Amino acid sequence: GTSLRIEGVSKTFESNGRQVEALRPVDLKIASGEFVCFLGPSGCGKSTLLSIIAGLESASSGTVFANDRAVSGPGTDRILLFQEAALFPWLDVQKNVEFGLRQAGIPARKRAEIAHKFIELVHLKGFERSYSHQLSGGMRQRAAIARALAIDPEVLLMDEPFGALDAFTRDRLHSELESIWSSTQKTILFVTHNVREAVALGDRVVVFAPRPGRIVRDFRIDLPRPRS
Ligand code: ADP
Ligand code: ADP
Repeated sequence: GTSLRIEGVSKTFESNGRQVEALRPVDLKIASGEFVCFLGPSGCGKSTLLSIIAGLESASSGTVFANDRAVSGPGTDRILLFQEAALFPWLDVQKNVEFGLRQAGIPARKRAEIAHKFIELVHLKGFERSYSHQLSGGMRQRAAIARALAIDPEVLLMDEPFGALDAFTRDRLHSELESIWSSTQKTILFVTHNVREAVALGDRVVVFAPRPGRIVRDFRIDLPRPRS
């Protein structure tokens, strides 16, 4: 697994000649296999921090370490940012899930085997040949999660991934994400502005406040959770 150490990470944007402090210096340690929710209203720097951890945005100060190595750019250390779940509309579910594996040069038979495993994990068996427009929103989201997991990221960063879904579908995806988490032991950082969602999902909740973006609470939820 992969642990993260965030040391003095801050971000200031230059906007019309004005400096906007998006994020005050953050220090966080996230253990391998932790499921952490970043909770806060919009504009408090949650997405900025996630992009910095993903290596997609540079910090104004500080460093992110993955297993004690500095994260230096996108895709390093198998950190994956899962934003919106757009499936490639010209590919069916099976091909979508295989997409990253194909890019990684994994041979066809092995690709199919891995895709099969993750399609089963998100309960989309029978929909391998379906296209995006033939699926419900929840099913698309599950297919996108399968596609993300198939490339076996060590750290999964999720930025309001279920924001556009109705509460019922969201609850079902929560259960699936939890069971995926307990069976794969991934490190998961999950951004949300929804208190219920953060408390339902995380085994730790880090609370942000805006203007300037900063961390105001960091607590652990000690529920006995079944972990296989
Ligand atoms: P959140 O994800 O919590 O909604 P963000 O990280 O998106 O917050 O934004 C934090 C602050 O940084 C906001 O005030 C936002 O307006 C500002 N900000 C984000 N991205 C940029 C940018 N590219 N240029 C200027 N300001 C930005
Ligand atoms: P979700 O909550 O994951 O979005 P739904 O509640 O929309 O799923 O659908 C429940 C089940 O109904 C699905 O798992 C699937 O078996 C079936 N279903 C939903 N939409 C479709 C569709 N467009 N084509 C075929 N089956 C569907």
